Amino acid sequence: MDTPVLDMLAFSPHPDDAELYCAGTLLLRRREGHRVGITDLTRGELSTRGTAESRAAETAEATRILGLDHRGNLGMPDGDVANTPENRLAIVREIRRWRPRTVLLPWHIDRHPDHEHASVLVREALFASGLRRVESFDDSGTRQEEYRPARAYYYMLSEDFTPGFIVDISDVFDTKLAAIHAYRTQFHTGTSADGPQTYISTPEFLESLIGRSMRLGFHVGGKYGEGFIPLQPLRLEAAWM
Ligand SMILES: [Zn+2]
Repeated sequence: MDTPVLDMLAFSPHPDDAELYCAGTLLLRRREGHRVGITDLTRGELSTRGTAESRAAETAEATRILGLDHRGNLGMPDGDVANTPENRLAIVREIRRWRPRTVLLPWHIDRHPDHEHASVLVREALFASGLRRVESFDDSGTRQEEYRPARAYYYMLSEDFTPGFIVDISDVFDTKLAAIHAYRTQFHTGTSADGPQTYISTPEFLESLIGRSMRLGFHVGGKYGEGFIPLQPLRLEAAWM
């Protein structure tokens, strides 16, 4: 049986967070021929706008636009992403199943409690996943081997941070934006479904995201960028300095 292996896996508290905040980097890895994926922790069923069904259809559309090799959903309750042994083990199972070389996880300071809890949960699962004596089993009941991704990077959500590095996503920014616009009920697309305005449904939300992308891109000589902080210090060869 082929081992399902991904080059890069992003954990997204809600469907759309990865699209907003790290999809450009996923697109660049995919463009280089690597396998990439997103695992959503919740289905976003607490959203003010849209329904669980419309959100699932929007996620499928965004997944198609991004050309992901894997889109998972762990079905944790929206609004109650808690750092429990069960939730931690669910993420351990996902890491051991897909064995990604690199994991992208949410930054741990954010306006949304789910984002903060997801950050801690994934960080702790990354550690536990590498421990042989933390047992987990796949869907067929087979014991999974321990595995710890070589690299893990925090991505920037609603709170800015000073990035450890910035990826120039200028070449794929249009595709990233198309994937965001797939969430028609959530964001302002000019044809947004009716519903109460929320923090993320105003034109200003996307404008500010684009503005930040431009500021980050400018810092590294590009047009658009995404910023990250490594979970562990990066090894830098003297030859790169
Ligand atoms: Zn979210």
